[in-house]
Amino acid sequence: MKRLVILGGGESGVGTALLGKEKGYEVFVSDKGKIKEKYKNVLLNNEIEFEDGQHTESKILNAHIVMKSPGIPDKVDLVIQIRNAGIKVVSEIEFASKFTNATLVAITGSNGKTTTATLTHHLLKQDLDVGLAGNIGDSFARQILDKNYENYVLEISSFQLDDIIDFKPKIAILTNITPDHLDRYDYKFENYIASKFRIVENQTDEDYFIYDSDEEVIEEWLQNHSIQSKKLPFSLTNVIEEGAYYENNKIIITIDNNQIIMPTKNLALEGKHNIKNAMAASTVAHILKIRKQTIRESLENFQGVEHRLEHVLKINKVQYINDSKATNVNATYFALESMDAPTVWIVGGVDKGNDYKELFPFVNEKVKAIICLGVDNTKLFEAFGNMVDVIIETEYMSEAVKIAYKVADAGENVLLSPACASFDLFENYEDRGRQFKNAVRNL
Ligand code: ADP
Repeated sequence: MKRLVILGGGESGVGTALLGKEKGYEVFVSDKGKIKEKYKNVLLNNEIEFEDGQHTESKILNAHIVMKSPGIPDKVDLVIQIRNAGIKVVSEIEFASKFTNATLVAITGSNGKTTTATLTHHLLKQDLDVGLAGNIGDSFARQILDKNYENYVLEISSFQLDDIIDFKPKIAILTNITPDHLDRYDYKFENYIASKFRIVENQTDEDYFIYDSDEEVIEEWLQNHSIQSKKLPFSLTNVIEEGAYYENNKIIITIDNNQIIMPTKNLALEGKHNIKNAMAASTVAHILKIRKQTIRESLENFQGVEHRLEHVLKINKVQYINDSKATNVNATYFALESMDAPTVWIVGGVDKGNDYKELFPFVNEKVKAIICLGVDNTKLFEAFGNMVDVIIETEYMSEAVKIAYKVADAGENVLLSPACASFDLFENYEDRGRQFKNAVRNL
């Protein structure tokens, strides 16, 4: 019997354990931290051996194959030992995709993955049997076991791509690349870029690669590397003959001389970045022959994803917007760009080496007050102190929202778009977003 060792007992680890057991592997799950009670119960009920709080090397280094959860860096001693012992290390998507013949749509990028994946799934599900997995909801491995959909839309991080071997999506999407997670890539942007592009490495000329051709980093990489995939760029600014572009409130998509035109006036999603996401998702739908009418209606009734430019409430004609998922400058850039009225901006948290310069024009033009919500707000004061009349700091969401309530006038916005990670004051970005919404509801 082949021995499958799984490092990390979270959603992807436990899903892989279940799938591995079903496929005849001897499975062992090992987690250095604590495994959540709900996952422990799943492992116990399925008679899968596991440990937590430690890694017992003798039970790991005898593996035939190791599935490493995306959160575990390559630099960890144990991982180095595993590789030195010549044991194959794979990610969940690599392991799981061997056990399905489904059509795979894989979405990666620094920002926009969840929105694009959820929207794509929304467009496809009207006409196709399709699951949504990856970083969202139930793991891919578990869905292959339980549901066995004919198609999957997968949200894929660079960490999942780092440990692929044969993973080959029929359709790959790259939304954009901005410096992020560089600590896992030897602080070299080019390593992170290369990791993202692994999404196309096993594709052939029967497969599709959809990407944002307005992104210089992507265009430059493509100029210097040749890929097999059929390229379908999308652009907000240039006319695209094969692929998608945007003109006069319309998305125009052409694939093999077959053109569809989608009006965007009635999109529920706001912001230019969401036009990009809509172009990418609609291109997938067009490839998979979803009816034009269905694409149009689904684009119009898609309400967006929680914590991404989510409209919470209007109070005294002030719109409160939760963009807690904006954990980097690029995401906040698009949030501020999409503001159509003077805005009270709640920003701050754990700075990941942010350069705020690209936000200056929007802050000058649209931001009337800044509320810094972080333990250390020095960089925010340095960057924006001279740009706005009001800049205040607090460590409490409830207080931040109360101040915003006082400062904002009718017709204006209050925007939480932190451009930073949340771990100084919150459990995670979801916690931060929920606290914001609760504070708004309590006003
Ligand atoms: P991811 O899953 O890649 O983190 P999300 O869809 O969760 O992406 O969005 C993360 C943040 O980025 C949100 O603040 C969202 O408004 C913003 N965003 C969404 N799509 C894009 C895009 N195409 N380009 C830049 N920012 C985006």
